[in-house]
This record gives sequence, C-alpha cells and structure tokens, in this order.
Amino acid sequence: MMCLSLEKWDNFIIDMDGVLWRGETPLSGLQEFFTALRGTKRNFVLATNNSNRTVNQYLKKLRRMGVQVSQEEILTSAQVTANHLANTAPNGSRVSVIGGDGLRTSLQEHDFEITDENPAYVVVGFDHNLNWDKLNTAVLNIRAGAVFVATNSDATYPTEAGTGIGNGAIVAAINTSTGETPIIVGKPEPPLYKQALQRLGGSPAQTIMIGDRLETDILGANRAGITSLLLLTGVTTQDNLTDSDIQPDFVLPGLPELTNAMLSKSETTPDTVEQSL
Ligand SMILES: [Mg+2]
Repeated sequence: MMCLSLEKWDNFIIDMDGVLWRGETPLSGLQEFFTALRGTKRNFVLATNNSNRTVNQYLKKLRRMGVQVSQEEILTSAQVTANHLANTAPNGSRVSVIGGDGLRTSLQEHDFEITDENPAYVVVGFDHNLNWDKLNTAVLNIRAGAVFVATNSDATYPTEAGTGIGNGAIVAAINTSTGETPIIVGKPEPPLYKQALQRLGGSPAQTIMIGDRLETDILGANRAGITSLLLLTGVTTQDNLTDSDIQPDFVLPGLPELTNAMLSKSETTPDTVEQSL
C-alpha cells in the first residue's frame, strides 16, 4: 500500500473542532502533530467557523492541551466577519449581535457600534445564552431592513456527548421567520479562505485544508482550488463520506496518520499520489 506523502504542501489551513479536539478533550496525537508542523517549518492557520470564543480564549485552550501558537496563527469566523464588514460597511455602522465574546470583541475592534436599536446589520453567531428575546429582536430588526449576516451555517457541533446543535439552527430559525437568506462569511464561503490565504501568503496550489466536515471545510476548499483532506475524528463518518457528493482529495482516520503523512517523503511524483485510507 502506498503511503500518503504531504511533502509538496507548505501551507496548512486547519479546522479545530473535530480535528484538534472534541469539546474540551484533545484528540489523540495533538502535540505530536504540532511538533511535526513546527519541525517541518509548515505555515499554518487554525481556522474555525466557531465565532463564540476570542483568539485569546483559543490560545489558552491550546496551551491547556500543551500546544503553543501565536495570535496570527488563529483565524475565527468572528474575525473574518468583522474584517468582511469593515471592508463592505460604512465606518462605525450599527450592528446588532447574537453571539458570544468572540464575535462582540472582533466587531468592537473594528469600531462597530453594537446596539439593538436601528442596526444596519444583524450578525448571528453561536450563542450559548440564546433566548426568545434575542431571536425576536433579530427578526424585528431584519424585517425593519437590517442586513442579515451569519458567521457560519454549520447545522451541528461536535461535543464529547455526541453531535450537538450548531449555529446553522439559529440562522434557520431567523430565516424561517423573516424569509431572508443571510450573507454567510465562514466556510464553505470564500471570505474565510481568502483571509486564511492572505495570512499564509501563499497560493491555493501550495495550500491544503484539513477538516472534519464535508459541507464546510472540504466543499469550500474544493471550490477555492485548495487541496482538501478529511479526518474522520469529527462529524463525518465513513458512511456519510460514501453517501456524499462532496469528496475530499484525501481521507485519513486521525491526527497520527496525518502526522505520518506530513513527515513522509514522496517516493513518486506528487501527482501520482492517490486518495489514501
Ligand atoms: Mg470541525
């Protein structure tokens, strides 16, 4: 059996939930994976659709798991959303938010005014304290003309207890009541990949996306001309993969196999490397 080699890829975009951990539990081989990334001088950005946490909260979570990364090596959909709005919305625009600290902090860093009174935008990210009032306020503001923006539309979220609810369900509730389709900023849409490629400073051809979700990580990478690699440690099972129209370039069981593929030298020309499991 031919061993997969990822020797030709210099730049890695790496999803976090379901790839590095499940909930608060690190996945097997996490520290060895980062040792290999550093040891082989790969550029990487840890890119998540989760907008709930701040970059500093991710740095702390990784440190608890024995991994040191810099601020510039983390990109959240909250940051991508704030950057995207900063490029498209007038300065100081009024923004109403459903979401956690990550989203609020990113928007405030770009000088948006966070308010539920006459906002120009309603931005929706995952919110652990969601309630009827928040949903109703969002619906009323969107009906009054505010632009509906979603950090991501992931239907589910991987936890230790199993596959739980994701931001897509919150977005769907507002969509059901307003009939409005949001602008989605996270994976699989282009803004997150564009900003990740800017951080890495490389071309799509040098870049590989590692993720656990077909309809976000893998679909978006395929569309962006970025090589895609699926790990089966998150929301996607082998059966889901077999049934899906969305197919990654490569599939591996988890981080230990990924680390091996990063460290192994290609014995043949890279173009002849086939999907490997
Ligand atoms: Mg994931």
